[in-house]
Amino acid sequence: MNKKQTIGKRSTLLEFDKEHVWHPYTSMSSPLPSYLVESANGVYINLASGESLVDGMSSWWSVLHGYNHPKLNAALVEQSTKMSHVMFGGLTHTSAIELCDKLVQLTPQGLDKVFLSDSGSVAVEVAMKMAFQYWQSKEGQNKENRSYDYSSKTKLLTVRNGYHGDTFAAMSVCDPVTGMHQIFDKVLMKNIFAPTPTCKFGEQWQAEDVKELTELFKRHHHELAAFIIEPIVQGTGGMRFYHPEYLKACRQLCNQYDVLLIVDEIATGFGRTGKLFACEWADISPDIICLGKTLTGGYITLAATLCTSEIAETISNGEAGCFMHGPTFMGNALACAVANASIDLLFENNWQQQVQSIEQALQTLLLPLKSHLRVKDTRVLGSIGAVECLQAVNVAVIQKRFVELGVWIRPFGKLIYIIPPLVINKEQIVKLVTAMTTVLNEDECFI
Ligand SMILES: *Cc1c(COP(=O)(O)O)cnc(C)c1O
Repeated sequence: MNKKQTIGKRSTLLEFDKEHVWHPYTSMSSPLPSYLVESANGVYINLASGESLVDGMSSWWSVLHGYNHPKLNAALVEQSTKMSHVMFGGLTHTSAIELCDKLVQLTPQGLDKVFLSDSGSVAVEVAMKMAFQYWQSKEGQNKENRSYDYSSKTKLLTVRNGYHGDTFAAMSVCDPVTGMHQIFDKVLMKNIFAPTPTCKFGEQWQAEDVKELTELFKRHHHELAAFIIEPIVQGTGGMRFYHPEYLKACRQLCNQYDVLLIVDEIATGFGRTGKLFACEWADISPDIICLGKTLTGGYITLAATLCTSEIAETISNGEAGCFMHGPTFMGNALACAVANASIDLLFENNWQQQVQSIEQALQTLLLPLKSHLRVKDTRVLGSIGAVECLQAVNVAVIQKRFVELGVWIRPFGKLIYIIPPLVINKEQIVKLVTAMTTVLNEDECFI
């Protein structure tokens, strides 16, 4: 095909895309532009128009070892020659068993029972359902020692600025202002919100940061099934890094008030923050943990919800006799096989070393942008680097500039952040941060 034909085909494809294909969080009548991708390799995303972009986003936090990785590819091929999928009701397979074994071994103490599902949002739905079903099943026990019915424990407590997914139950614990609550208010579960943690990671701990949270536990515990939180990093809510003592206090309050602790590690799991799981910063174990995003190294959608034996047994001894959930593609063999290979690679590649060198580079290169006139704050934790601006970005314009500068960075609101694949090298990080610095000097990139 000659060049002219290639371009012709590309514009036809993009026209169809614009006319008929929904993309996330953009208008269907006047959408933000989409760039056509031909392939991706290592840390590069290759556009059909010819540019190769250094990936600063890990495809929404999910890619760890880069694109088109020979070992991950091989795991998929090998699994596909056996079977890609079989139903998980009444059948099981080695890839899923091995994966669940790894997850039980690697996650914090006590999380021994694994429920596999399709996506992060579903993992959160499953966690919430577990919490509700747990209290319903427990209602008959220790009745004499309490003044309320466990069956009234139907709400969740969470903090503002959180993000837990786009399905309805997950949405009901997203930030009530930025989290789509106005539109869906009439149909959303009504949950309870504590103020966002204000004491930052690395700062001196201020115990009053949990004062109002403590009050809410005290006031509402009889109706609370669970408290749900993203550990240490509030991601979509603005890349805010909060103090580990806050998370420790959450664990303690949950114990004290008979409320389950759900930790949503979907964005932070598998090394991102410098610990394998962000819970480790606070040295706590939740009752339920949600994993997703990086679980398959960014290859296929897969998520897991792990809970304690006590929760699993209580649910199983309850009225229903089983947990009431079972997705069609539960335990998908391709996804499990690639997840196993990705976790093996994490250790083969010495992820701690990888995250540390990204963190050091970001500290040297990105933190100093704080002195820029347009910047409110800069922060770095593990492989996450964020520049919070004083103005919101013009997404279409800034996106085009980033592409011209040879990088893939997708800012939102006032936030320009990067979270590159762990295999990125220093030179490529320099390219990302240089591009960020360049756009900060361009008025048209901001609203
Ligand atoms: C992305 C994300 C989710 C939702 O995961 P999906 O796979 O997009 O459904 C839930 N919780 C957190 C913390 C996330 O970052």
